[in-house]
Amino acid sequence: MQCSHCEKCCEETEMELSSRDIRRLEEAGHHREEFTVTGEDGVTRLRNIGRWCYFYNHAEKRCRVYKDRPLGCYLYPVVYLIGEGVVIDELCPMGETISEHELRTKGRILIKVVKTMKLIS
Ligand code: SF4
Repeated sequence: MQCSHCEKCCEETEMELSSRDIRRLEEAGHHREEFTVTGEDGVTRLRNIGRWCYFYNHAEKRCRVYKDRPLGCYLYPVVYLIGEGVVIDELCPMGETISEHELRTKGRILIKVVKTMKLIS
């Protein structure tokens, strides 16, 4: 897909983190207590600093951990919505540029992840 760097997906992020995401970011030198927040639902997510993801460099409009970014960030704008399944997030203005192949490939990964989270069978 063609990303326009609109910044919307890194603003007020609610991206969920897997233990593998956290481990990878820790191995890259980041401290879990600084980049994570755990909600009342027990889910660990990326922390925001002000309006932006902890890892977002607003001045340079880029992710500081692009190579090690969470799987959910890699898969975005392909998301899984309970009751709807795999969809392209309507927040992304470039979502329509995603190819069928990319949608299928990312969708398959997403389904696998959601199954391991036991949200679907
Ligand atoms: S980790 Fe990177 S890609 Fe993911 S929300 Fe934060 S800044 Fe954006």
